[in-house]
Amino acid sequence: MSTIAWIGLGHMGAPMSGNLVAAGHTVRGYDISEECAAVAAARGVTTVGSIAEALEGAEACFTSLPMPQHVRSVYDGPDGIWAHAAAGTLLMDTSTVDVATSRWCHDESTARGFTFVDSPVSGGTAGAEAHSLAFMLGGAADDVERARGYVAPMAGNVIACGEATAGIAAKLVNNMMLFISTMAVAEGSQLAEQLGLDHAVFWNVANAASGQSWAQRTWYPVPDIVPTAAANHDFDATFSVDLARKDCALAVQAGDTTGVHLPAAKLALGQLDELVSEGFGGKDCTLVTKFASPDGTL
Ligand code: NAD
Repeated sequence: MSTIAWIGLGHMGAPMSGNLVAAGHTVRGYDISEECAAVAAARGVTTVGSIAEALEGAEACFTSLPMPQHVRSVYDGPDGIWAHAAAGTLLMDTSTVDVATSRWCHDESTARGFTFVDSPVSGGTAGAEAHSLAFMLGGAADDVERARGYVAPMAGNVIACGEATAGIAAKLVNNMMLFISTMAVAEGSQLAEQLGLDHAVFWNVANAASGQSWAQRTWYPVPDIVPTAAANHDFDATFSVDLARKDCALAVQAGDTTGVHLPAAKLALGQLDELVSEGFGGKDCTLVTKFASPDGTL
C-alpha cells in the first residue's frame, strides 16, 4: 500500500480520497478550507496544514481543484507541489482545466523530474461516492499504466485517451455534451409536468426510450425522483453553477480556437452566466431548470 498526497478535498476530492483510504492507502490531504478538510478527515484522510506536509513520504499526488488558476498556483511557487514533491513523484490532476493549463503541467512537471498524467473524471459526486468514476488519462503509455493503479479504487472505468492532454480534451468535450443534455432534461421535466405527466412515470419512459441520458438518470431536476439529484436538497450543489460555467466556457473557447460552431453550448453557457449574475453560482447547475419553468421559479 502507498502513501498518497491529495490537494483539494471538496465535493469530489473528499469522497475520492476517502476511497483510496478504504482501499488501504495512507492519504495525506490538504485543503485551504478547514471545513472541507474535516469532511475528508471523517473518511480517514490524514489532514495536514500545507502542501509540503501532504507530500511527506508520498509517491503519488492527486489534485482536485476548482479552476485552472488554482491548479497553476498549487503546482507552482515556493509552497507548491513542484517545490516539495520527491523526484519521480507521479502527479495526477483530476480537475477540469483548459488544455493549455494541462499542457503546462505536463511540460513543467517533466522539466522538473516529475511524471504528470492528466486525469480528469466524470460521474459527479454520486460516482465519486460509489467509486464508479470514469477516468480519462492522458500521457505517455508507461505513465498512464502507472497512474491506472492509483486511480483504480475510485474508478468504474479507466480510459487511456492518448498522449499528454488527451484526457482533458476528452473531458471538456464530454462536459459540453453533459450541459447540453442537462438543458434538455430541464426543459423536458417542466414540459412533462405542464402536460400533466407524473414525473416518476415520465422518468421511467425517458429511461426506457430515446430521451435517456446521464443527466436524466442522475440529475432529474425534480424532488424525490432520483436520490442523486440536487433537486432533493433545494439545489444545493453537487456540481456547482460556477464550475459548470467554467467547464462550458472552456469548451466554447476550444470551439472558437478550432473553428467548430457550438450554438447549443453557447446557449447553455448563457444560462449558466445568468445564474451566476443572479447570485446562484454556488447552487447546483441543474438550477437551469428554472429557465423552463412557466413562472421562472422552482
Ligand atoms: P469544490 O469547489 O467542491 O472543491 C475544490 C476544493 O479545492 C475546495 O474544497 C477548495 O477549498 C479547495 N482549494 C481551492 N484552492 C486550494 C488551494 N490553493 N489549496 C488547497 N485546496 C484548495 O469542487 P469539486 O466539485 O470538488 O470539483 C473539483 C474539480 O473537479 C473541478 O475542477 C471540477 O470542475 C471537477 N469535477 C467536478 C465534478 C462534480 O460533480 N462536482 C465532476 C467532475 C469533475
